[in-house]
Amino acid sequence: MNWLYDLWDDFISLLFPRLCYACGNQLLRNEYLLCTGCYVSIPRTNYHLQPENPVAQLFWGRCLIEKAAAFSFYARGSRIRNLIHSLKYLGIKEIGYELGRIYAVSLKSSGFTADVDVIMPVPLHPSKRRIRGFNQSEYISAGVSDVTGLPVNTESLVRIVLSATQTNRSRYERWTNVEGIFQVADSEAIRGKHILLVDDVITTGSTIESCVNELLKVENVKVSVIAIGCAVV
Ligand SMILES: [Zn+2]
Repeated sequence: MNWLYDLWDDFISLLFPRLCYACGNQLLRNEYLLCTGCYVSIPRTNYHLQPENPVAQLFWGRCLIEKAAAFSFYARGSRIRNLIHSLKYLGIKEIGYELGRIYAVSLKSSGFTADVDVIMPVPLHPSKRRIRGFNQSEYISAGVSDVTGLPVNTESLVRIVLSATQTNRSRYERWTNVEGIFQVADSEAIRGKHILLVDDVITTGSTIESCVNELLKVENVKVSVIAIGCAVV
């Protein structure tokens, strides 16, 4: 009776086509969220293989980071941008989980996550989280955790200030604007740990900078950073 099921499946997908969230083409029966063409051809930065990559350099002189990398380039019209938008604004949380899984396979096999103890998503301010209903970075983290087996900590760092958009500020203004945005809520839980901080997109780096400087106040903490997209030029 498989043929009958397949026929029914084809009929349903004719009425309600499932589309790739990256390019908009119709998905085949065995594809999920992302078509095979996009899966293969989304440009990877491979920054996890280059310690002195542009994302790592972004933090030079700003905060002490062990390692930093991003999965893909986040540009206007790029497929990774479409995916992140579907995750954040359409609420397709599975996209975060899948992207986390896809990236973690490369991170794990290259040894990037070998000495990491715990994964920590960049927290949203509680009021923003309430409006969106979820934190996209937690879903990316869950995907990374699934592949690496590392635990996720969403409790020990909290966002206490809802900051305005950083886009139009100068670096100096941004620097003065990032102090005291986050607070460690449980220093016992992270003391002596190497934390992998997870964000969806890295642009100016000021959010990460603020997180890292707060986390480094705890004894013997080390921080590495990953994001799915980077808009660093
Ligand atoms: Zn596609």
